[in-house]
Amino acid sequence: MNIHEYQARELFAKFNVATQPGSVAFTPEEAEQVAAKLGGKLVIKAQIHAGGRGKGTFKNGFKGGVHLCDTPAEAKDIAAKMLGQVLVTHQTGPEGKEVAKVFVGQAVDISSELYFAILLDRATSAPVVIASTEGGVDIEAVAENSPEKMIRVPVNPSLGLMPYQTRAIAAQLGLKGKLMTQASKLFTNLYKLFLESDCSMVEVNPLVVTATGDLLALDAKFNFDDNALYRQPDVVAMRDTTEEDPREVEASKFGLNYIGLDGNIACLVNGAGLAMATMDIIQYAGGTPANFLDVGGGATKDQVFQAFGIILGDKNVKGILVNIFGGIMDCDIIANGIVEAAREIGLSIPLVVRLEGNNVEAGKKTLADSGLALISGDDILDAAQKIVAEVGKAA
Ligand code: GDP
Ligand code: MG
Repeated sequence: MNIHEYQARELFAKFNVATQPGSVAFTPEEAEQVAAKLGGKLVIKAQIHAGGRGKGTFKNGFKGGVHLCDTPAEAKDIAAKMLGQVLVTHQTGPEGKEVAKVFVGQAVDISSELYFAILLDRATSAPVVIASTEGGVDIEAVAENSPEKMIRVPVNPSLGLMPYQTRAIAAQLGLKGKLMTQASKLFTNLYKLFLESDCSMVEVNPLVVTATGDLLALDAKFNFDDNALYRQPDVVAMRDTTEEDPREVEASKFGLNYIGLDGNIACLVNGAGLAMATMDIIQYAGGTPANFLDVGGGATKDQVFQAFGIILGDKNVKGILVNIFGGIMDCDIIANGIVEAAREIGLSIPLVVRLEGNNVEAGKKTLADSGLALISGDDILDAAQKIVAEVGKAA
């Protein structure tokens, strides 16, 4: 799960991570009021679940999702140009994201921009700190062209981020004296935030040294471990479903793991590994998958029913491949779900079903007796070839 920058800043406050004052605004008038309260120079930042805003462009031609200005009237004007508009950045894809709120903050006079992140390194199964003196809007280019400028410090999960490590990172970032003290505190607090909020990533880019010689976090991009959300009610409360794929939001209501893709063959599979293999084999057979959908090892008839609804809600879907291995559950339960869903929804596109495992004969009989025009696949490759052929025929 992701949150907005303004929400991440609430976590900054809770964990004493130094940043500039400011707050969220939903209308140009609110932006003006916040600006008036803050006083001085201001920064207006579009709030979307994607980075690269500074270098982004709105579809109405307005350039940049991060702007500096001098007066509340200007803040209102800039907010009006952003709100309700679609911002395209290198992270949003060409469709962009609509801006429904902006962050209005006190502008900071920047002396240098650094990069600091903590993420989960799956190779070592431990957190790792990534830092760089080359922070700011071009960090991706730095990582690609000058990887030696990216500092990597693995964290022993049982010890946590140790004071000697925070000092060493600060030293490598060229921070001395008062700045080193501030850096050690900021890194320690950010690590505490990462751990206690069950983050999979916290990224601060830029972390800045101000003209007056202080260290401040000026941007925040956080990801959370979905498996830990059950114990993070405060984080869940920050979820903004308008930023997510509506099909994925719908699927999550029924405990289905769904990820929308660009192809036209929908897959309904039980188990994430089998779902990955099914997507691969659809490609191998010359087709393109429309989604990843794992109904889970112990799916119910109702979940299968809901899964069909979500699949058919995607207008790009021209055929469905059901690939079920009945390990925990019986094939005939799945078969019943398929038949019921196909009847009720009035399925009008080709459906290929491959069943294997517990009670497979009963499941196949249910499908055969249903009178529905579904096609049976003998094995995974056969099933994939059949659905690709059917979709090709229809086109
Ligand atoms: P991103 O482009 O989505 O990562 O958005 P950021 O919040 O990182 O802002 C992009 C860039 O705008 C930063 O790298 C800074 O160079 C600049 N910026 C952001 N906030 C301020 C500020 O308060 N003062 C100044 N001078 N520049 C800022
Ligand atoms: Mg940034």
